[in-house]
Amino acid sequence: MQKILITGGTGFIGSHTVVQLESIGYECVILDSLANSRPAVVDRITKITGKTPVLVEGDVRDRACLDAVFAAHDIDSVIHFAGLKAVAESIREPLRYYDCNVSGTITLLSAMAKANVKTIVFSSSATVYGEPDFSPIPESAPFRPASPYGKSKAMVESILTDLTVSDPAWRVALLRYFNPVGAHPSGMMGEDPAGIPNNLMPFVCQVASGRHKTLNIFGNDYPTADGTAERDYIHVMDLAEGHLAALHYLVRSDAPRLTIANLGTSRGHSVLDVVTTFARVNNTPIPYQFVARRPGDVPAYWADATRAEQTLGWKATRSLEDMCRDSWNWQTQNPTGYIG
Ligand code: NAD
Ligand code: UDP
Repeated sequence: MQKILITGGTGFIGSHTVVQLESIGYECVILDSLANSRPAVVDRITKITGKTPVLVEGDVRDRACLDAVFAAHDIDSVIHFAGLKAVAESIREPLRYYDCNVSGTITLLSAMAKANVKTIVFSSSATVYGEPDFSPIPESAPFRPASPYGKSKAMVESILTDLTVSDPAWRVALLRYFNPVGAHPSGMMGEDPAGIPNNLMPFVCQVASGRHKTLNIFGNDYPTADGTAERDYIHVMDLAEGHLAALHYLVRSDAPRLTIANLGTSRGHSVLDVVTTFARVNNTPIPYQFVARRPGDVPAYWADATRAEQTLGWKATRSLEDMCRDSWNWQTQNPTGYIG
């Protein structure tokens, strides 16, 4: 049985990935500082899978902690989710972002090298592309990250690429996620942002539940079909399955040292598409108003996810309807998230 270290495994995407890993027999060790997640997630994972992952509360920048984890557990591979992810915050606090996302990854990789664990799946992001020349965006598109957050992802991609050149034993997958939304279909796990959400789907859920009166739609003068910005929303369960596919691929005898893949649905949906779909499938009105564009937002982008299908054998299967229904199911069952 393969044992996987999942950094950031109590977070939104990490927790759903742990459930999927456990459901097919992997053993999971989570390392998470709980900077943006709650230990109660582990109980939910246990309720869903009947298995309890090990949770080590610790920071990826803490070398001693990492060495202890690798010494105590016979880890085969690592999925590295841990990091800070708020774009606007990264502009205000670049050093904190580079420290956590870049230094944290270097510390993790050094500990992995020492423990002779050289297989890693890394959470990259479509933000490395910045404003693309066109969509769908292939993996070969130029990097134009506009924020310290996006730059930190691009830097880690370079570090991991260099590592594969230096030592043929490394097997690295760089997965560039588009816009993860949705929740586990049971309604027991989902996205639990601290404070007022920045992202669209959690905010829509909170409008539907009455926590906010109105959704502000940032801009209706974009050059898109309905004037609102378009994104490639991907269900978190599809994303979780993308990690399983990447792990399976990396352990194949013919796997290259470096694999890079977009994880998206290959189609864009506008903000209004999300709002009207959510209202329709959940039979819940979403009052909204148009306000000015949000600074730094790109008008429209979506993935070319063909490579993931061709190399990893993975394709997103869940629809925008599924994403809206599962997000709302999580919200209604857990109006205050994991606490309460
Ligand atoms: P999340 O905040 O829910 O999960 C990240 C987890 O990492 C949290 O549980 C947090 O407590 C933990 N963490 C943060 N810093 C840590 C540290 N120094 N040491 C140990 N643990 C630490 O975020 P998420 O949405 O699940 O994102 C997971 C990864 O995917 C991140 O690397 C993020 O940048 C990347 N990503 C997310 C999105 C998105 O929109 N959600 C899009 C593209 C890429
Ligand atoms: N958005 C919005 N109102 C909100 C939150 C987001 O109109 O309260 C829009 C945002 O401008 C963008 C899209 O929804 O066009 C997706 O935003 P999100 O923050 O979820 O993801 P991003 O693509 O910015 O990473």
